[in-house]
Amino acid sequence: MAFPDPTKPIASCAASTCVDCPVSKKIHCHFRPKELFHFLLISLPGFVIGGAVMLTVGIWPLALYIAIVIGFFGFLEIRVMCSHCPHYAEDGPTLSCWANHGSPKLWKYRPGPMSNAEKFWFFSGLVVVWGYPLPFFFHTDAWLLLVLYVMINAAFFTTLTSFLCSKCMNFACPLNTVDQVSRALFFQRNPSVACHWDTDKRFDL
Ligand code: SF4
Ligand code: SF4
Repeated sequence: MAFPDPTKPIASCAASTCVDCPVSKKIHCHFRPKELFHFLLISLPGFVIGGAVMLTVGIWPLALYIAIVIGFFGFLEIRVMCSHCPHYAEDGPTLSCWANHGSPKLWKYRPGPMSNAEKFWFFSGLVVVWGYPLPFFFHTDAWLLLVLYVMINAAFFTTLTSFLCSKCMNFACPLNTVDQVSRALFFQRNPSVACHWDTDKRFDL
């Protein structure tokens, strides 16, 4: 399982070394198995519960669920959101970050903000991926599992935005919660990214 070399600046970075870089404490320029494990630990339980309830109805609803999940995390999200991420500029045909690890990079790198259309498809995908299992809880009267599904996914999104999105280098993502000071530090070392943002107005460079 490949991860970026933590001793080397990423492709978009103009610095010559990562040693003592203040950005490294604020933003995950490099990913480690620890972050991937953290992401899988908080994201998978909701999918397992949703899939298990579908399986009580039949194999085809589950097969469609798996196709929707792969279609979103493997393709749609990569096109509309990840293609804006500085990590997308790294060498190699697939992503090696903490989420979407292994997803193919079929599209060109698009530094800078997401368009409104991209945001629409991103949020539509989120609604379909997490909303598709809901009718199956009602259909099978699995009320306790429904409560568990809602609580686990609420905990997932809270943990995601608090601990992972708060250090993610993709400022284009609508879920990104990196503070303005950290963004400015990142932009100072990554001018090839900063030039695609309205940095004079939004960030204190
Ligand atoms: S901003 Fe550049 S130098 Fe600093 S940690 Fe990230 S890749 Fe390394
Ligand atoms: S936006 Fe997140 S999931 Fe997508 S490439 Fe960047 S770090 Fe990976």
